[in-house]
Amino acid sequence: MKNPDCSKLSSFHAMAKPAGADCNLHCDYCFFLKKAELYPDSRLRMSDEVMETYIRQTIESHRTPAVTIAWQGGEPTLMGLDFFRRSIEIEKKYLKPGMRVENTIQTNGVLINEHWCSFLRENNFLVGLSLDGPKKLHDAYRRDRSGNSVFDRVVRAVKLMQAHDVQFNILCTINAVNSKHPLEVYRFFRDELQTPYLQFIPIVERDNDTRFLEGDRVTERSVRSEQYGRFLSEIFDEWVRKDVGKMFVLFFDGVLASWVRGYSNLCVLRPTCGENVVLEHNGDMYSCDHFVEPDHLLGNIRKAHISDLVNSDKQKSFGAAKHVTLPKQCLECEYLFTCHGECPKNRISDSGINYLCEGLKAFFRHTEKPMQIMARLLKSGHFADEIMQILADKETDRNGCPTNKKGDIHNERDPGAERGQR
Ligand code: SF4
Ligand code: SF4
Repeated sequence: MKNPDCSKLSSFHAMAKPAGADCNLHCDYCFFLKKAELYPDSRLRMSDEVMETYIRQTIESHRTPAVTIAWQGGEPTLMGLDFFRRSIEIEKKYLKPGMRVENTIQTNGVLINEHWCSFLRENNFLVGLSLDGPKKLHDAYRRDRSGNSVFDRVVRAVKLMQAHDVQFNILCTINAVNSKHPLEVYRFFRDELQTPYLQFIPIVERDNDTRFLEGDRVTERSVRSEQYGRFLSEIFDEWVRKDVGKMFVLFFDGVLASWVRGYSNLCVLRPTCGENVVLEHNGDMYSCDHFVEPDHLLGNIRKAHISDLVNSDKQKSFGAAKHVTLPKQCLECEYLFTCHGECPKNRISDSGINYLCEGLKAFFRHTEKPMQIMARLLKSGHFADEIMQILADKETDRNGCPTNKKGDIHNERDPGAERGQR
């Protein structure tokens, strides 16, 4: 098979599901579980041949100093540690001179023990750990197959990874239950677990039997759009006054990047899709993790090179559709520059507008002024965390008493503008 040419993407993100949709939990909102039905006669385990092909082709396709090898589920730890030990050897075999590999793995944490932690640390893995907040919120939808709580086991994984100095992010879904408790969720991660890297993932789950992206109704478990906006805004208000530079919320950073440089690296906030493909256990590649459906099958990496699939016309038109199908409401929206209509999977109505639009717009409006202040600080060589002092000064009178004017940062003259002009 020949190497890819220079007219192709120099990098992309190919996420592999070595255990397919198989999982040792049974979370109510999981869209992966149903995907197992796409492969009814399969054990849902990736062979070493497919694993090697994935790693080799991904490395071959990249013309960048770093390449990411990403494992996701289902639950990838079901493959056992030896599978991942072998993957490290395969990476060494194919890595180009001067190139480094960044390994990532997403897990529910249930199988994480001392051996896993040693391995993850030794090989510099970045772990995404799924946890939906304190026990009563986490247990709302994330339980094992018998309906039992796994909260204590996940918290144990947090402590073990911290003790072993494993790098990890918390992946917290925002659903109908925990969306009503934004500060409880945020403070749990900040104060109790001391996990500074947070990724919030809105649950927008279609209400149908196929679990494919069909129909225009969402389940009761899904987050309400306006509640999603409130959830983000309340956490933002706490973060921007106390935690900038100490806590890292991926969505806030993504929106701030748009204010600073005009674009974000977060796929949901980019104008087009197409650079985030997903690989099933048998080598089938799909357009995106959220589009593992027959219509979005690109091919199989045992028969075609990953680079050819990622750069195929089919994938290009999938990527462009995000922009091409934007409704008038988005095209005229003042926040299009950062939102770009968010993820196409959430555009569920015939109008094409995103289910989360109301909440997103409320969040963008609510955070506009502080985002502008931070953007000016950064563009003028300052640090974003200086905003905390700016807001404290504004919200405190000469005697050091609170002015109760929190809302004023949305309306008044912006002291950051003066700093930014220096
Ligand atoms: S479909 Fe959604 S999740 Fe997939 S690449 Fe596009 S924005 Fe990202
Ligand atoms: S906030 Fe709503 S209208 Fe504006 S770009 Fe996003 S989805 Fe479209």
